[in-house]
Amino acid sequence: MLRRLLFTFTTLLLPLIGEARIIETAHVADAIQLIDEDTWFLVDLDNTMFEAKQALGHANWFYDEMQKRLQNGMSREEAIRDSYPGWIKTQQVCPVKPLEEDFVPSLLSLQNRDIVIMGLTHRQPSVAQSTVRQVASLGFNFVKTAPSKDSFVVPAISPTLYLQGILFVSDYNKKGDVFLPFLSMIKQSPKKVVFIDDKRKNVEELEQALAKYGIEYVGVYYTAIEHVAPVYSREVAEFQYKFLDKIMSNEAAAVLMEHGLE
Ligand SMILES: [Mg+2]
Repeated sequence: MLRRLLFTFTTLLLPLIGEARIIETAHVADAIQLIDEDTWFLVDLDNTMFEAKQALGHANWFYDEMQKRLQNGMSREEAIRDSYPGWIKTQQVCPVKPLEEDFVPSLLSLQNRDIVIMGLTHRQPSVAQSTVRQVASLGFNFVKTAPSKDSFVVPAISPTLYLQGILFVSDYNKKGDVFLPFLSMIKQSPKKVVFIDDKRKNVEELEQALAKYGIEYVGVYYTAIEHVAPVYSREVAEFQYKFLDKIMSNEAAAVLMEHGLE
């Protein structure tokens, strides 16, 4: 009897609940091996797919700018709103690089297998065009196997945007709170989701959001950013910011040209 009950539970109920787990790794290869033909691979961008090449415009710069404002007594919402114009401005010109050399080639080989891949980022719609350019600079385009090739807004507490295979959920919404309505809008549902993100909180929140829907889930808490040489320093970023709007003098240009800097 007990065996029979267990059998009923595992064969009928478990698929409905959807298995879920979270792994921690610094290597994208550990995520790739969990992906099969029924999987959608959701990819965070900042400090996961790429990081800025310099201190100014780095995600850690944005977090530090927010931190300064929180210390000055702003709420989280106020701090984000106040930091965002600087973030928008820097992303327009900010070059990026991958954290692991095999990250983009791994995504490309998944696309060659027709695996669904999409970006899932807390970035706001106001940096969407800059973000698409940054992704393209790495030789990648999510559109090829994205779940939808259209562009649209997903209703949520704060503005969102789905563009070029990237869902911009904004800092104010949880990723799950936008991803699930997104699935309803495109009338699709994955059998399994693998989600890679450098923040444990994000992979845990998506696990909770998907738990009710019978979608198998593996959250990959991706720690590569902790293993690469730090790019961000407040001092360097502040110096770089001074030159964001400045035209260079002939003297400064001569010094830089002499040192072979572009
Ligand atoms: Mg991130």
